[in-house]
Amino acid sequence: MKQICVVGVGYVGLVTAACFADLGNRVVALDVDEKRVENLKKGIMPIYEPGLEELVKRNVKGGRLIFTTSYADAMKGAEYAFIAVGTPSGGDGNADLQYVQAAAESIAKNMTTPLIIINKSTVPIGTGDWVADIVKKAQPGPIEFAVVSCPEFLREGSAIADFMSPHRNVIGSLDKDAANKVAQLHLPLRAPIVITDLRTAEMIKYASNAFLATKISFINELADLCELVGADVKEVATGMGYDARIGRYFLDAGLGWGGSCFPKDVQALAFMAKEMGLNPRILNDVMEVNYDRRSAVSKHVEKMLGGNLKGKTIGLLGLAFKENTDDMRDAPSVDISNALIAEGANVRGYDPVARETAAPLMPAVEIFDDIYEMVAGCDALIVVTPWNEFKQLDLDKVKDLMKTPAVYDGRNMYDPARMREMGFTYKAVGR
Ligand code: NAD
Repeated sequence: MKQICVVGVGYVGLVTAACFADLGNRVVALDVDEKRVENLKKGIMPIYEPGLEELVKRNVKGGRLIFTTSYADAMKGAEYAFIAVGTPSGGDGNADLQYVQAAAESIAKNMTTPLIIINKSTVPIGTGDWVADIVKKAQPGPIEFAVVSCPEFLREGSAIADFMSPHRNVIGSLDKDAANKVAQLHLPLRAPIVITDLRTAEMIKYASNAFLATKISFINELADLCELVGADVKEVATGMGYDARIGRYFLDAGLGWGGSCFPKDVQALAFMAKEMGLNPRILNDVMEVNYDRRSAVSKHVEKMLGGNLKGKTIGLLGLAFKENTDDMRDAPSVDISNALIAEGANVRGYDPVARETAAPLMPAVEIFDDIYEMVAGCDALIVVTPWNEFKQLDLDKVKDLMKTPAVYDGRNMYDPARMREMGFTYKAVGR
């Protein structure tokens, strides 16, 4: 049983803490957000993530997982401290490291025994060395420590499965002993472990996210061409995906990527390249192609409705940036609803779990608790988030309830032939 402290109990930190506890370690999960910690002590989860509540409760009950706001308590006897705080985009496109800095200083001031500090947050290349300097300066007296990079690759919505069965774990440090100890922690996950230096590990994370974002922007660019030449992008992706060199994942054409990682990480990587005097041409285009997806939606819907959105009621199916999460960070639904409202439309929305997180970001959008109530009287629907619930909709009922049965399927969820047979004015992406 290892003594682990996880700093920051958000999407990554809470999953990391609960999973390491479930693997038999003693984990203290710390956050500066008092309300969040208070709720967690009562068993109330701060985020929606399938399976998380049960996992947290089981490990709290088993005495392996505790929550605190006190660095002094959390660092007592800790052998490992994971930093899992947010690294949002700063105004200039670079990652904002203020939370990492604060966490590193607090760890340094409160550590009492030799410690391995493991950076799980996605951070610009060189941050590990910077954290080491911060800790050295903030320590009241010299206590041995090492800084290791161990970037996280989980996806919201399947975070627990991703953490427990990763494709690989990447561990970066110049301290071989510390890297090996962190590798030992991950051995029960039975995944390949890549041990490398700090900066390479930090780069692997950005490179992976930027590559996945590139795949999505690539297929979206092809989707527009497919529409014009009469090809079906979904079948193109399937046909490409069987090639093991390409793979089918992240080749779904639609409204593009959003969320808490790809936007800020692609931007931060481009920023780093520019700072180094390079011209990140691919990364810039990947971002431009992506955000064009969002601005094109209102134009497509306008065309479907005869050229005018003024006074039309448009319903958004899904608000979260992806399915199985309540995360609204850089969700396409926000830009899409703003564009529709600017054209004079009334916008409504429905999401199975993101109602509360969405509401403050879209005050002019009427958010419904019942999907059929939202659909009733709509001139058009836009599929924004590919929730399974939408696949099971009673489409006959939907058609009857709508004022005019127009559907812009931004996630290629429905069968175009069937939708048209049913009498919908239906537009998919690249089909
Ligand atoms: P989050 O915003 O959900 O959680 C961050 C938490 O850190 C919050 O609860 C906040 O209160 C806490 N915090 C901030 N400053 C603190 C401090 N000084 N001490 C203690 N706690 C503090 O963020 P997230 O989505 O979990 O992301 C965390 C990191 O992991 C980011 O770098 C992100 O890029 C990376 N990451 C995220 C995902 C994802 O899917 N969300 C996946 C892989 C990697």
